[in-house]
Amino acid sequence: MKLRINQIDLPPGYTPEQLVTAAAKALRCKPSALGGLKTVRRSIDARGRSPRMTVAVEVDFSGKLPSGLRDVEPARETVLPKLPVIPNCSGPRPLVVGAGPAGLMAAFGLAEAGLKPLLIERGEAAAPRAKRVELFWKNGTLDCESNVLYGEGGAGLFSDGKLTSRSKDRPRVRRFLEILVSAGASPDILIDAEPHIGSDVLKELIPALRNRIIELGGDVRFGARLDRLEIENGAVRGAVISGKEFDAVCCVLATGHSARDIYEMLAGQGVPLEPKPFAVGVRLEIPQHRIDTSQWGGRFPVLGQAGFRLTRREEENARACYTFCMCPGGLVISCASSDGLLTTNGMSLSRRDKPFGNAAFLVPVFPSDFPMAGNNGLAGIEFQRKLEAAAFSAGGSDYSLPVQRLVDFLEGAAPSELPAERSCIRSRPAQLRGLLPEFVEQTLRCAVPNMLRSLRGVLPEEALLYASETRSSSPVRVVRDESGQSAIRGLYPCGEGAGYAGGIVSSGIDGLRMAEAVAMEFSSESFR
Ligand SMILES: Cc1cc2nc3c(=O)[nH]c(=O)nc-3n(C[C@H](O)[C@H](O)[C@H](O)COP(=O)(O)OP(=O)(O)OC[C@H]3O[C@@H](n4cnc5c(N)ncnc54)[C@H](O)[C@@H]3O)c2cc1C
Repeated sequence: MKLRINQIDLPPGYTPEQLVTAAAKALRCKPSALGGLKTVRRSIDARGRSPRMTVAVEVDFSGKLPSGLRDVEPARETVLPKLPVIPNCSGPRPLVVGAGPAGLMAAFGLAEAGLKPLLIERGEAAAPRAKRVELFWKNGTLDCESNVLYGEGGAGLFSDGKLTSRSKDRPRVRRFLEILVSAGASPDILIDAEPHIGSDVLKELIPALRNRIIELGGDVRFGARLDRLEIENGAVRGAVISGKEFDAVCCVLATGHSARDIYEMLAGQGVPLEPKPFAVGVRLEIPQHRIDTSQWGGRFPVLGQAGFRLTRREEENARACYTFCMCPGGLVISCASSDGLLTTNGMSLSRRDKPFGNAAFLVPVFPSDFPMAGNNGLAGIEFQRKLEAAAFSAGGSDYSLPVQRLVDFLEGAAPSELPAERSCIRSRPAQLRGLLPEFVEQTLRCAVPNMLRSLRGVLPEEALLYASETRSSSPVRVVRDESGQSAIRGLYPCGEGAGYAGGIVSSGIDGLRMAEAVAMEFSSESFR
């Protein structure tokens, strides 16, 4: 019989022999009685004085099970969703717009189903894009079509590559991770509780995924921007791509939430949009060794770098402040996709070996917080734009991030000199007070010092704040029904930009979900 043994407690850097011995102890048998031992889950338990590993394994065991065993159960089988394979499909290729996690997974799923998608991306392929982004960080030259947010890999390419997700859709999460492994990611991501890839590895992996889509019959084009959808009788009939007309009956729209021109195009074409809550705030940077000490009592090279997740609400009805997208050993980066608008985010390389850790400290924003001009759902974008324009100008109007010491921000003091060593070169000392709405600033001023106090040993005087974090999630939802389609038939809003996902994993699995929805439609008679 195949058994799963949970909660095996081991030291960091445990050996295979230690694992087998501990698994045998849990089953009260000899190590030789265990066959085919496989680790299925691995997490760090830092609740004690020094960190331990908690491991789950599956084993083949043919003996008699002693009674009263704890943490032992029959092995679970994850049934992965299967797509119908549609042979000899005629008509135009399904169109997938945007090669971020959502669009790539949608195109991959469609290609596997035999539907030969056309995947278009306004930015460049990963390699030339990476060079362009380096130039942007060095001298502030922005290409509005290919940048930190646009191009192959989407907003996720220059990221921490954290693959954590709160999704309960475990089978699709598994499928997503397995696709990444088939494209070259480490199989560790299938077992680690907090899987992480790193921007450097993503740059290798995404082109491999693209090549797989092409091998399966898909067509992938860069520098190809969706300008407009052609809609007739409430259904997609074509698309204008970089000025040229194409036939299309189906479009998976995975353009992310930075593509504000797409929301405007949709609103203009009467596609139902609605505003949704999002969050804004700052990115805070502190020395990584302080974080390691606060979480683990010191450095444990075998475990990598420690992270944290914090939430704080000062009073019962007050707004909460929470941390988001923590990047241990990472870099704070300047991000832009249109002239004169600036936002910040964090990224890291696979080794996470930079001397600082950073995280967004965010405050939720609700549609009731901003005036709604008309009812087209775009008011949240206007709200973001104002904050981004203010950050651009405070940073010196050359895409340098405005940065200030936390203590100066809290006291309302003028920005004092910054430490020479900080992760973001493209940043300039500035007064951060006034860059965010008063209700956000006030929440940050009250909550951040208390949140840092819970990280023992972290010194507020070493913390830097970068402004402003405005694009942690979409302010708009493109309404879709249970079939995945908008009120416009054949239009499948997908991923973070459509308001149905937040983060790499949930966007990727939404792409897989939309591929399944399209394949279902194509397998019905009406499309054949
Ligand atoms: C710096 C940074 C770090 C991040 N770190 C993490 C992390 O560690 N973990 C995590 O889970 N999430 C992270 N995120 C968030 C994550 O990247 C997004 O949630 C995810 O990329 C959203 O996927 P998506 O495919 O829906 O959209 P996107 O990734 O935004 O992709 C949309 C794509 O569509 C293209 N596009 C837009 N308009 C058009 C058009 N008209 N025609 C053709 N193409 C178009 C864009 O160029 C883009 O490539 C990070 C984001 C940023 C910016």
